[in-house]
Amino acid sequence: MRGPLRERVNRRLLAIALAAAALGSTVLASVSGALVLHATLKEAENHTRSIERDLSGSVTSFQPLYEVQRQLQLAASSRELRSALLLDQRGMVLAASDNALVGHSVQALDAEAGLGDLPEHLRACFPASSAGFCVADRASSLLDGPIPWFGGDHMIRVLPTPLALEGLPAFGQQGLLVIELDLQPLVGQALQLTGLVFLAGLVPLFLTAAALVLVVRRQLLPELINLAQTDSLSGVLNRGAFLEAAAQRLDLSAVDQPLVVALIDIDHFKTINDTYGHAAGDEVIRRMADFLNGAVRRGDLVGRLGGDEFALLVAAAAPQAQDLLERLRQRVASHRWTLADGSEPQLTLSIGMVEQGSEGRNKLGELLQAADAALYVAKDQGRNQVMDLERLHPRGWSVQPA
Ligand code: GH3
Ligand code: MG
Repeated sequence: MRGPLRERVNRRLLAIALAAAALGSTVLASVSGALVLHATLKEAENHTRSIERDLSGSVTSFQPLYEVQRQLQLAASSRELRSALLLDQRGMVLAASDNALVGHSVQALDAEAGLGDLPEHLRACFPASSAGFCVADRASSLLDGPIPWFGGDHMIRVLPTPLALEGLPAFGQQGLLVIELDLQPLVGQALQLTGLVFLAGLVPLFLTAAALVLVVRRQLLPELINLAQTDSLSGVLNRGAFLEAAAQRLDLSAVDQPLVVALIDIDHFKTINDTYGHAAGDEVIRRMADFLNGAVRRGDLVGRLGGDEFALLVAAAAPQAQDLLERLRQRVASHRWTLADGSEPQLTLSIGMVEQGSEGRNKLGELLQAADAALYVAKDQGRNQVMDLERLHPRGWSVQPA
């Protein structure tokens, strides 16, 4: 009876658990990936500095240029180093990890030199600049690559250094040591780790979210669903819940299982309100709902559509349903209703009923319309009666739109 809402809520909760796990895992993976990347970049920078120290020591120790050249080549043979260059203050390559570059000016080097975008960055350093990446008098780093905000895939370090080399004509002049570090393996590792953390986080986070969902489903959901479907005054199904449950029952009903829709309205209820007060009117609605609930069988539906109007879905053929409704009408009319304040209103009901399939009506909307027409006739013919238009006009009848 209360299935559709429960299924919808269950599906929604499962989707929320999945989304929460994916979101949580993504955040976890991003944070750990960023931290790992940050740490590896720091380590790379320290590594560069130590290479830098060694090389700058060799360019100030009166060694011959070929010795410096050998050391640059040696340094570049380490896995992470893409290239190492020693430039004079005009931008001429004095020594380089790649022999072929020696003697060329950085202004003349282009991408074909196998240096990627390094020449482009270095050109900005000549003539000596005091702004941006090439600060004239101190070491600086440039993180560069397709996604520089995430870390870049290579780092360029430039270090201004005095040159003191054997055989160098301009003794004591200023030079520039350039080291380019390949960060691709480090960035790759960090991304791989990010992916692993994402996958590793997904399962426990989903289990946690699913456990929370389960607790909500077991402990809160029945209460919330009950609250959402119950009419707060009378305690029977509210309008929405009745319509949904009745429509589902009609859709699923077997051909040989007869169903009757009945609309029940308290006669002259306004007068009860006016005579005994609104609180007494409320009590009548509550007591009538209890009465209807007690009169139908388990599995039949009772709902309050609004005001003093109730609806029933009775699992019976028209003759049995009419007997049941007639007995109910008689009991209400003959019952001595004593309210909490001692007042004793006389209560009667008008009831309009229709069986599923009568005049080809099968959908809830059509059946409610027909039951309403029957209720209208019951009111019109003096109230306190059960009306089935099919029985009144067995050869056919039609509902006039209101
Ligand atoms: P009829 O025999 O034609 O049905 O007459 P009636 O007076 O019962 O019908 P009508 O629709 O004119 O009046 C219904 C009244 O029910 C009007 C409204 O003030 C009252 N009502 C609606 N909801 C509530 C409620 O929750 N509590 C109370 N006490 N009265 C309500
Ligand atoms: Mg009424």
